[in-house]
Amino acid sequence: MKTLTRDFIRVGKSRIEGKGAFAKRKIPKGTRIIEYVGRRIPVGSLLLPAAELQPMRTYSFRVNETTMIDPTVGGNDARFINHSCEPNCESYVFDDRVYIYAMRDISRSEELTFDYKLGPSLKTAGKKMDKSQYVCYCGSPNCRGTMLGLKPKRKIN
Ligand SMILES: [Zn+2]
Repeated sequence: MKTLTRDFIRVGKSRIEGKGAFAKRKIPKGTRIIEYVGRRIPVGSLLLPAAELQPMRTYSFRVNETTMIDPTVGGNDARFINHSCEPNCESYVFDDRVYIYAMRDISRSEELTFDYKLGPSLKTAGKKMDKSQYVCYCGSPNCRGTMLGLKPKRKIN
């Protein structure tokens, strides 16, 4: 199924990790770049999808309370978008479909990134999360050192 008519992404070697997705052309802020697709699986059904099987790290995308998308099966180039703590893209979920948007103007050949904010769904199945598996290599000045989402700050008062 083709949902987008424009093709913004080219896949190449990433300076962050493994393969990455790069802008084929200038992408204006707010552009819907690509849909994040793949096999739909129940939350928690895969702890570390394919991490040991593949040379690159791949993660499931949590769509809602019950469903995740595993891009290793039926995924498109969106699965090559790396994590960054200072990303140029962000994800939005509409009607249980996930889209990647440009959160600022992106120049041609720039690597596309979004903040994975990997969450506790990985912790299910009774196994503890090994933080060393989620080290961030994004290299941005404000890198928080992990691809895990930060815990919400406790409110004062
Ligand atoms: Zn980082």
